[in-house]
Amino acid sequence: MLKYATPAQLKQYFEPVIRGEKSTCFALTETHSGSDAQSIKTSAIADGDDLVINGGKHYISGAPFADFAIVMCVTDASTTPPAISAVLVDLDLPGVTVTNEYVPMSGQHIDGDIHFDNVRLPRANIFGGEGNGFKLGMSRINVNRLLHCPTMLGLATRAYESSLEYAGQRRQFGGPIARFQAIQHMLADMAAALWACESMITHTAALADAGADLRMKAAACKLFVSERCFEVADKAVQIHGNVGVTRGHPVEQTFRKLRMFRIFTGTSEIQRNTIARTILEPLQQNA
Ligand SMILES: Cc1cc2nc3c(=O)[nH]c(=O)nc-3n(C[C@H](O)[C@H](O)[C@H](O)COP(=O)(O)OP(=O)(O)OC[C@H]3O[C@@H](n4cnc5c(N)ncnc54)[C@H](O)[C@@H]3O)c2cc1C
Repeated sequence: MLKYATPAQLKQYFEPVIRGEKSTCFALTETHSGSDAQSIKTSAIADGDDLVINGGKHYISGAPFADFAIVMCVTDASTTPPAISAVLVDLDLPGVTVTNEYVPMSGQHIDGDIHFDNVRLPRANIFGGEGNGFKLGMSRINVNRLLHCPTMLGLATRAYESSLEYAGQRRQFGGPIARFQAIQHMLADMAAALWACESMITHTAALADAGADLRMKAAACKLFVSERCFEVADKAVQIHGNVGVTRGHPVEQTFRKLRMFRIFTGTSEIQRNTIARTILEPLQQNA
C-alpha cells in the first residue's frame, strides 16, 4: 500500500489506518465471480475528472465496519482481459450500501456485501495506476496467503494442546484415554503436522523477507497449512468425544474456523492450480 499510494492517498487513507483511526477492507469477489477473479463486472467509468461506480461486491471481510474499501473495478471493458483498477471508495458516499445478512460457519459476523449505485468520486482515487489493479491485487494475495498461515497454526496448536490436556484427564476403562495407542497416534500425527507447518511457515516468511518470488511458495504454504491444520482440528474433535462436538466448546469453534481457511484467499484447488502452473512453466517454455 505504502509503495503504491500517492502522497494525497497516503494522507487521506493509509496514514489514518496506521494510526488506528480508520479501517479498510479489500473488495474483489462478486456473487458471480469468485475463483475466476478476472470476470468481475463492477465498473468504474470515467466522467471528466470523476469516476462513476456501479456494481456490487460479495463476502468482504471487515466491510460492515470499514471506513473505506479498496475496490477492484473494470475501468475498460473493451480490452481482453478487461482493464481492472483498484479504487479507494469511502463507504459513506451517496450510493454506497453495506449489508451483512449472512453469518459464516465461524460464527463471526465480520463479512458483508457492498453495493454501488452511481457512486461518484474523484478519478484521483485510483490506486496504483489505472489498469494495474489486478496485478496489484494478485501480488497482495500472495503475501496474504502466507500471512493467514500463522493464524491457522495458532488455532491448530491450541486445539492440540487442549487435546493433550484432555487425553490426560479423561478416564475411560479405568484410566486416562492417553494410554490408548489410538489416542497417542492421533496426538503424534498432530504434533508432527504442527511441526511441519511451523517449519514451512518460518522458511517461507524468511524468503518473503528476502524479497523472493512467493507465487508458488505462498500457495504451497497456504494449501499445506490449511489442510494439515484442519486435520489437526478434526483429530482434536475426535479426542474430545461429545465435548468436542458441543456448540461453544473452543475445539468445536476452532474446527469451524479452520474449515473456512480452505476457501478464502483462493480455495485449495486454486492453490494447486497456482503451484502446478509455476512448476510446469519451464516445460511450457521448452515445448
Ligand atoms: C470468510 C470469507 C471471507 C472472505 N473475505 C473476502 C474479502 O475480504 N475480499 C474478497 O474479495 N473476497 C473475500 N472472500 C471471497 C473468497 O475469496 C472466495 O469465496 C473465494 O475466492 C472462492 O470463490 P467462491 O466462493 O465464489 O467459489 P467458486 O470460485 O465458485 O468455487 C467453487 C468450487 O469450484 C472450485 N473451482 C473453481 N475454479 C476452479 C478451477 N479453475 N480449478 C479447480 N477448481 C475450481 C473451487 O475450488 C471450489 O471448490 C471471502 C470468503 C469467505 C468465505
